[in-house]
Amino acid sequence: MTEATKSWIEAANAADCEFPIQNLPYGVFSVDGQAPRCGVAIGDRIVDLAACEAAGLIDAGGTFSQPQLNDFIALGRAKWDEIRAALTALLATGGNSATPTVAMADAKLHLPIRVTEYTDFYASRNHAFNVGVLFRGPENALPAQWTHIPIGYNGRASSVVVSGTDVIRPMGQLKTDDGPIWSPCKRLDLELELGAIVGAPSELGDRVSVDRAESMIFGYVLLNDWSARDIQAWEYQPLGPFQSKAFATTISPWIVTQAALEPFRSEGAERLNPLLPYLHETRPGFYDLNLSWSLNGETLSRTNYNVMYYSSAQQLAHHTSSGCPMRVGDMLGSGTISGPAPDQTGALLEMTEGGKKPVKTGDGDRTFLQDGDTVTLNGYAQGDGYRVGFGPCTGTILPAKE
Ligand code: CA
Repeated sequence: MTEATKSWIEAANAADCEFPIQNLPYGVFSVDGQAPRCGVAIGDRIVDLAACEAAGLIDAGGTFSQPQLNDFIALGRAKWDEIRAALTALLATGGNSATPTVAMADAKLHLPIRVTEYTDFYASRNHAFNVGVLFRGPENALPAQWTHIPIGYNGRASSVVVSGTDVIRPMGQLKTDDGPIWSPCKRLDLELELGAIVGAPSELGDRVSVDRAESMIFGYVLLNDWSARDIQAWEYQPLGPFQSKAFATTISPWIVTQAALEPFRSEGAERLNPLLPYLHETRPGFYDLNLSWSLNGETLSRTNYNVMYYSSAQQLAHHTSSGCPMRVGDMLGSGTISGPAPDQTGALLEMTEGGKKPVKTGDGDRTFLQDGDTVTLNGYAQGDGYRVGFGPCTGTILPAKE
């Protein structure tokens, strides 16, 4: 792999730029109403990968002219490495200044992948404990199996949307003392998560080791698992969340590759007991990633991905433990990422203790989200003089369709 620290695209060299040459995240963009195609973010520009292919600068079998990255990702890890090395050479100082790019300000960003299936996990001990206290009391807060098994549920791929898409407040059944009512959700929340994008398939009946699972991950996005807490509280037992999570999941437009995050590999949370052998990992599977979320531009919480108990590779390995096959474009949500303190929580449910302690903001007190509120997730890994970021993952709440 070519090592490069600076680009001829000057904006990429600023210390606080989230898209330096060390990052090169993949997305899908369009300009002037033309067909969406694949691109890579660098500085304040997007490399037009379809045009690069047409010009013979790179070769990905024509996959970059597709309106999502699935076909490129399916080409496999050797091709991922080859294209990353080629782009690094083109974009480095002294590279090819005729590489086709467009101004990011002129581009519309689209969903980067066709999400094949979506599974969401529950891997922050702080979050699992805090939410458990609110739903079941402190004695039963952390379920007995939690320190042994990555807990998850099968979510909906059909409602995964790209950053910038408005989110309509869901209608649903809410519990009252007089029985359920049909109502707009009154306890609408965010969940700050990381999403792992699966880049290689496994066969039906095939169990995948944690090491192999890691080699199957193409990259990561920021993920907001919007949650209707009142609908959830009424519906979730015994089979887990359903309509409370099905109405929208927002992801960042840029997929930061595993290769770009490699320098930031980190230990996760301390193990409370030994894991069964099929969940053993030979090296730490977490990253030192600074994460935060803001409400209407005001940052309310900061945490780090390395507080998590199960890595995406462990979650993926567990997902195949029954023989369940994985496919290119599957997305695994990490679970809400929360540190121990209220200003480190990844959801309002925890921050406000179930709505009992409103959080003060410049826009007034909040327990849960109001119509018109905009929530933005941010995340980056801090290198020596550069940062590898995701770009914002944002959504604004629209009133319910009553
Ligand atoms: Ca979640």
